[in-house]
Amino acid sequence: MKGKAQFPIIDGKKICNKCLVEKPISEFPKKERGDSYKADCKRCSVARSLAARAKKPEYYKERQKQYQKRVKLEALNAYGGPFCACCGESNVFFLTLDHINNDGAEHRKTMPAGSSTYRWLKNNGYPAGLRVLCYNCNCGRHANGGVCPHELEGATTIPQGSTAKRLEAPGTPMG
Ligand SMILES: [Zn+2]
Ligand SMILES: [Zn+2]
Ligand SMILES: [Zn+2]
Repeated sequence: MKGKAQFPIIDGKKICNKCLVEKPISEFPKKERGDSYKADCKRCSVARSLAARAKKPEYYKERQKQYQKRVKLEALNAYGGPFCACCGESNVFFLTLDHINNDGAEHRKTMPAGSSTYRWLKNNGYPAGLRVLCYNCNCGRHANGGVCPHELEGATTIPQGSTAKRLEAPGTPMG
């Protein structure tokens, strides 16, 4: 591949192809490979990527969505697979991670909330104590005192007036 023609580096300075201003070489981004520098200065490079983003907001939004889905899917796979451990729901958008021992409050002190959770888990080697549940089962479980209503449906005798029916504040499902 032929590189774009650019101004030579003289005395540690270079002229930007875009704004044509002479700047110190530290003002130019390095190429991904090798020790050479890009033709446009940092300021122009940033301006260009912002302009590209503004031109195609849908494209970048979609790319961001795909990235988040991929990170989430990786985390779900690390915790048993992309399906609800209770009802088997397999639509990734319905799935979240659940703290098996209800120690979510403890955990969440160190874990960031929202979609960055999945990235955090990855960076921390997917610590144990979580499992995949759908939002339904996650909320149902917390609202039903730690037992998903599905589990009671499946039981032969429904424990009438059991403590499991006691209502608790639902936990906040993650991203
Ligand atoms: Zn420039
Ligand atoms: Zn479920
Ligand atoms: Zn369930």
